[in-house]
Amino acid sequence: MEIKFLDLQKINKLHQEEIENNLLKTFRSGWYLQGIETKNFEKNLAQYIGVKHIIGVANGLDALRLIIRAYIELGIFQEGDEIIVPANTYIASVLAITDNNLTPVFVEPDINNQNIDINKIEQHITSRTKAIMTVHLYGKIAYNDKLSEIVKNHNLKLIEDNAQAIGAIYNGIKTGNLGDASGFSFYPGKNLGALGDGGAVSTNDDELAATIKAIANYGSNEKYVNIYKGLNSRLDEIQASVLDIKLKYINQENNRRRQISERYSNEIINSKIILPSTQEGDLEHVWHLYVIRSSERDRLQKHLADKGIQTLIHYPIPPHLQKCYSEYNQLKFPITEQLSGEVLSLPISPVLDEESVTYIIDAMNSFE
Ligand SMILES: *Cc1c(COP(=O)(O)O)cnc(C)c1O
Repeated sequence: MEIKFLDLQKINKLHQEEIENNLLKTFRSGWYLQGIETKNFEKNLAQYIGVKHIIGVANGLDALRLIIRAYIELGIFQEGDEIIVPANTYIASVLAITDNNLTPVFVEPDINNQNIDINKIEQHITSRTKAIMTVHLYGKIAYNDKLSEIVKNHNLKLIEDNAQAIGAIYNGIKTGNLGDASGFSFYPGKNLGALGDGGAVSTNDDELAATIKAIANYGSNEKYVNIYKGLNSRLDEIQASVLDIKLKYINQENNRRRQISERYSNEIINSKIILPSTQEGDLEHVWHLYVIRSSERDRLQKHLADKGIQTLIHYPIPPHLQKCYSEYNQLKFPITEQLSGEVLSLPISPVLDEESVTYIIDAMNSFE
């Protein structure tokens, strides 16, 4: 048996006819940017998330960069300000901060759920702290009432990195609507994936939305009139026409991920393997990734590869240890560093069939 980590061809085949029809319509329309497809998708995603504004942008990193840049243009953030960010995250969360000449302040994760340890945030708040960027890593919600209180008490902005968690719900509210602004990614491998790059910002703040929209369009609201030194970061009509179709099926597809995760969690029994925690409200988790831990991770990965099962590591090197962040290389985050040596992501997707799930479970249980 050969099981790919993620079979994008099969995923997109699920809705092939509908996607192809919409793509063809867009192709023939002769209108490829800032048109009806993007507008419809923005409206439908806003309705789905329950948020006032969605602004389609070029990718998830830009979504996060643009939020911070807009707060700078609005005079709310200044160069040198600090943003709290999990030490255990994909590097894009951190790049969005440093690209704007703000300082990331890393906070260790909770070892059991791998998300930022909300109980450790307050000790890192200084007079320069302007925001917390929370990352719903692996599709797991990194938010609770305590985080909301911290944000309020210290008068901070809450930015969500929602790249991995579209559709996750906390107490009836979707991620992407828990803070002041949020970034989405439609990278092909994400739960809602385009046929290339795509991203979006969500917010209920009218002024922030208008500022982001302008910055992402050369700094302009009106053709040839530029109020910001902007950039070109737009979602195009082709991607929007694919995403608008796939959005209709996101709940169904997230539910299939939940079913698979439930089988893994119930049926994988091996003392060498630690399964992902089930936290309160876990049913609303969207399982972008199913991440296990093992102190013998590399040997386990090889055992699975020998059986034809492809796995990945999210992530093998934490941001503070990357070469590009030499200024942070001397910092020590023991929990984050331990995780990078122990985590392993199993195949999970809406097209993984029961037979494959059983095969993966058997392979996990036969590891000794
Ligand atoms: C994918 C991802 C991003 C960046 O999204 P792109 O669309 O690839 O730029 C940011 N943060 C996290 C946590 C991600 O997983």
